[in-house]
Amino acid sequence: MLTQAPKGTKDVRPNDAYKWHYVENIMKEAARVNGYREVRTPGFEHTELFLRGVGDTTDVVQKEMYTFLDKGDRSITLKPEGTAGAARAFIEHGLFNEALPLKMFYFTPVYRYEKPQSGRLREHHQFGVEAFGGSEPTLDAEIIMLGYNVLKNCGLQGLSLNINSIGCPKCRERYNQALREYFAGKKLCETCLSRLERNPMRILDCKDVDCGRDADNAPVILDYICEECAEHFEMLKKILTSLEIPFNVNPRIVRGLDYYTKTVFEIIALVDGSPLTVCGGGRYDGLVEQLGGKETCGIGFGMGIERLLILMEEQQLLPEEPELFKVFVVSGASDQERIAAFNLVQKMRANGISADSDHNKRSFKAQFKYAGKQNVSYTVVIGTNELETGKYTLKNMVDGTQQELEADEIINLIK
Ligand SMILES: [Zn+2]
Ligand SMILES: [Zn+2]
Repeated sequence: MLTQAPKGTKDVRPNDAYKWHYVENIMKEAARVNGYREVRTPGFEHTELFLRGVGDTTDVVQKEMYTFLDKGDRSITLKPEGTAGAARAFIEHGLFNEALPLKMFYFTPVYRYEKPQSGRLREHHQFGVEAFGGSEPTLDAEIIMLGYNVLKNCGLQGLSLNINSIGCPKCRERYNQALREYFAGKKLCETCLSRLERNPMRILDCKDVDCGRDADNAPVILDYICEECAEHFEMLKKILTSLEIPFNVNPRIVRGLDYYTKTVFEIIALVDGSPLTVCGGGRYDGLVEQLGGKETCGIGFGMGIERLLILMEEQQLLPEEPELFKVFVVSGASDQERIAAFNLVQKMRANGISADSDHNKRSFKAQFKYAGKQNVSYTVVIGTNELETGKYTLKNMVDGTQQELEADEIINLIK
């Protein structure tokens, strides 16, 4: 127990960390060219934020949150998604007074109590972007393209984009009525029976078998959206078409969070022929107001990093691990030689060269063996001879050539 990570969590081992850095750099670069700055919000928030933001009849809130009372009797919840925290920060820091839209991105752990057999993690990590205070469909297209380009720049092939509009509260009223009529008398799970009155749309993303079967034939919201929402959606489609981005309108996408309005989208990758959602998001024009802020529209997405890395691993899109050290300085056993080796290493590091020397008083032979294991490009040898002459043997481990050089010459050569 003690030496096993909790169910649904995963360590990133030191020899895998470079993969995370690789995709994070692609994400940061996409954020940068679109003018998104990083926001960092806490890993936990007041439970109330998610009840109001995500919605208290959603699966996430009703079944999946990590909620507990802290020692001060406050109800605290580990972030089950990234948007609510970003919106809270937007309000708390008065960011609506800045030039809008205000665009942010983040990397965050996300906690959901998923069933273990689903193969999903209970702690996973997301790259998220949010743009607050922009109402036009060009912003919807920007967000979609940002996600799409990240995945493309990661090298993923066969991506498809599914979009839908789930309308505004005005369209929602008529639609909810249609859903109530449709689901009336149908076999529903306990949770959905209570959703029928309050929020029938959430029945559509229930994972229960009975609810799922009926959801497939339920009325779709696209048939009920108002003129304004329809125009917004048409314009988005025009923009995507102009960019020559292939997309499908999938009226079945509703996304499981209450704050979405108008545009919702998913970017799907094919894995062994079956579709896997790697990025999902949408507009949330009512969220900021819902949380007590000034009326501010917004849109964003979340992208699961573990899932993306699995896909990239399968499609062999990840680079080799970069070398840990470029140089290993091998030294004799005397204090003098060891100190000289350590000094040379420090000098190299100060010059931006990754380098190391022995920390275990190993023999010459064992040090060379260690250097070989680390795949270093160069070794430098410091023995009593070298201490006297001030010239060290630099060995190129790739082609086997050797030369006698002074410390500064070695550094200049390698740098
Ligand atoms: Zn509408
Ligand atoms: Zn249900």
